[in-house]
Amino acid sequence: MDKLTAYLVKKGVLKDERVIRAFAENPRYKFVPERYKDYWYVDEPLPTFEGQTISQPSTVAFMTQALEVGEGMKVLEVGAGSGWQAAILSSLVGKGGKVYTIERIPKLYEFAKRNLRDKKNVEVILGDGSKGLPRKAPFDRIIVTAAAKEVPKALIEQLDEEGILLVPVGVGVQRMVKVWKKGRREYLGEFVFVPLVEE
Ligand code: SAM
Repeated sequence: MDKLTAYLVKKGVLKDERVIRAFAENPRYKFVPERYKDYWYVDEPLPTFEGQTISQPSTVAFMTQALEVGEGMKVLEVGAGSGWQAAILSSLVGKGGKVYTIERIPKLYEFAKRNLRDKKNVEVILGDGSKGLPRKAPFDRIIVTAAAKEVPKALIEQLDEEGILLVPVGVGVQRMVKVWKKGRREYLGEFVFVPLVEE
């Protein structure tokens, strides 16, 4: 196990055995840009390109566990960035599952695509993900890794009947909102993300 995963377990952030394994299979140093390689294990967000970030490891751990991803699920991520979150999701859904991840900035799309080239169950898509990916809906899980102004209705519509959406909502500081297709909502604390660009 790499030292970042071990730290997150020791800190008590990573608890779920399947998620711990998924983190250990996808060490963060494979997803951090070359100029920040020395800092890959630090529990802080790091810059990627064009003012964007690879999220804080504690946040990725928290969100991944909150999403309750099972083997064989179809998952949509909005905000591919470095591809690290998508790689972790790829391990969790396994061979029978599928992960779609959308990125709007071409340079980051290329970066994520390269970092995820060995993941057969991941498709990286260039474009605006703020309205989801209707042509591949419904999804078992949707995770948004950028800050939305409000819970995007289009994403709720693209959930399966048993589906769950996880999205940070707010300007400046965000509340993490867990939304069940069936109507229930939970608020899971405060985080800070780069904005979801809604075109
Ligand atoms: N999940 C990423 C990872 O594992 O590295 C980190 C995501 S970063 C915090 C947020 C990303 O969302 C940025 O790369 C940004 O370009 C992207 N983004 C923002 N608005 C978007 C949109 N409407 N559609 C797709 N991607 C978007």
